[in-house]
Amino acid sequence: MKYDVIVIGAGLGGLECGYLLSRAGRRVLVLERGTQPGGCLQSYRRDGLSFDTGFHYVGGVGEGESLYPVFCYLGLADLPWQRMDKAFDLVMIGGRTFPIMQGFDAFVEALTAEFPAEREALRRYADLLQEVLRRQFDEWTPADNGKSAAFFGRLLETGAWDYVQEHFRDPLLREVLGGNALTMELRRQSLPLFSFAHCQAGYLEGSWRLRGGGEQIVRRLVSGIRQCGGTVLCRAEVQELVEKDGRLVAARCADGEVYEADAFLSDVHPAVTCTWLENSRVLRKSYRHRLTAADNTFGLCTVSLRLKPRALPYRNCNHYVYAGRDAWEFYLDEGPVGGVLLSSPVPDDGYARQLDLLTPLTWEHCRRWADTTVGRRGEDYLALKRRLADECLALAGRVIPGISTLVEACYVSTPLTFRDYTCTPQGSAYGLQKDFRQPLMALLSPRTPLPNLWLTGQNLALHGVHGVTMTALQTCAELLGKEWIWNNVLNK
Ligand SMILES: Cc1cc2nc3c(=O)[nH]c(=O)nc-3n(C[C@H](O)[C@H](O)[C@H](O)COP(=O)(O)OP(=O)(O)OC[C@H]3O[C@@H](n4cnc5c(N)ncnc54)[C@H](O)[C@@H]3O)c2cc1C
Repeated sequence: MKYDVIVIGAGLGGLECGYLLSRAGRRVLVLERGTQPGGCLQSYRRDGLSFDTGFHYVGGVGEGESLYPVFCYLGLADLPWQRMDKAFDLVMIGGRTFPIMQGFDAFVEALTAEFPAEREALRRYADLLQEVLRRQFDEWTPADNGKSAAFFGRLLETGAWDYVQEHFRDPLLREVLGGNALTMELRRQSLPLFSFAHCQAGYLEGSWRLRGGGEQIVRRLVSGIRQCGGTVLCRAEVQELVEKDGRLVAARCADGEVYEADAFLSDVHPAVTCTWLENSRVLRKSYRHRLTAADNTFGLCTVSLRLKPRALPYRNCNHYVYAGRDAWEFYLDEGPVGGVLLSSPVPDDGYARQLDLLTPLTWEHCRRWADTTVGRRGEDYLALKRRLADECLALAGRVIPGISTLVEACYVSTPLTFRDYTCTPQGSAYGLQKDFRQPLMALLSPRTPLPNLWLTGQNLALHGVHGVTMTALQTCAELLGKEWIWNNVLNK
């Protein structure tokens, strides 16, 4: 059977595209190398509890918020979302705790109370974030006429740190504003204002956890694709894309199966995608080089704790705790863990049964085990995991005194774990590093030199559930037309 579209990779981006295209009447096949779909959104079970891997909270999914129309269309809006506390993130830095509030006015007021001289700058910043959300929508309207693209172009070419430094005088406030941004890579010299503002804007608009875990997103999308007549195949690792007369005609998998289609869409890291096209006559060396030589964002170490029953009251907010006064690039040295995010899934009984502690971990820390496989990494690797767990617990102890005494079990994943499960080079958390000094890398196009191959997922423009969803729309617009997305998905 020949398909209309083959989507490679059943991560969030691949599944969202698979669903949009199936619902638009295309015959879709999604090929996933793993044993289960979801990519970074998979979960795993230990002793009767389900642990999320790459999902803790998301911005903008409530009614009237920016992702709502898209989530309605994707069948995700009625999942059991739980709005987080008004102060959804608490940032402890320099020994003080600062609330990051949902709602733009509340955000400005709460930080103005701590930094009265910065009211105007905070107001301007909040206005900018609101404009980002508005234009994210306007961009699709026929009347926009490229105005939003020009606005986003300016943000792409501005450094987030440069903006923060220029607009805010108080050095501590600059750190606080980046203090809840473990959700992106805060490199002073590269992070575009576009990525920073986009990510922050979604959370300030409305922050949500998902009762029952992120895997529900995956299950909904997979069953939606199947209901529309599409197919999702796991254990199907693509190893080659077959080219004929300048177009792709088939995908060849590791088990020898060959699947034919008219169009191909890759949700897999572009550097990996290039390896399937080694014999391509169309893919130029320069394009290949640009994607394979580019840097990746850091990976994350997650210390997942199983807590004693009814020992720790559930907190409906996250805590970010920093060892020093530095939130930007605190992770770059080889020293002890400098900051940690504490996040709990929503429990049934008001007590946290699980708690995740996350801290960035660069590939440098892991590369010596790069050629080893799970379970064969030896005592040194286990010692690294134990050290990371101890240091994360020590920082977490600043907001939950005696936390170690509440722990029943502890499971640690590193970038190596993500590399193994999703094939993302260097186990990078957010894929290709976006760099405002190289606009071509800050906003990678879904188009490729091959006329029937497109890219999607977090490596393109934006990462996270919010960003990957917006990127899926951009990719599908290439196949279905911008107008189709506007009429069927956004303007409902
Ligand atoms: C620890 C961590 C915590 C996070 N927390 C949050 C959060 O709280 N909120 C939020 O919004 N975002 C969060 N994120 C980010 C979010 O999870 C990702 O941005 C998003 O899930 C990426 O989706 P994707 O489809 O782009 O890529 P991926 O999830 O990487 O999907 C790629 C898929 O391609 C498959 N694949 C690879 N090679 C092949 C092949 N050869 N053939 C077939 N299939 C292949 C992989 O197995 C995978 O399933 C977190 C990420 C991490 C790592």
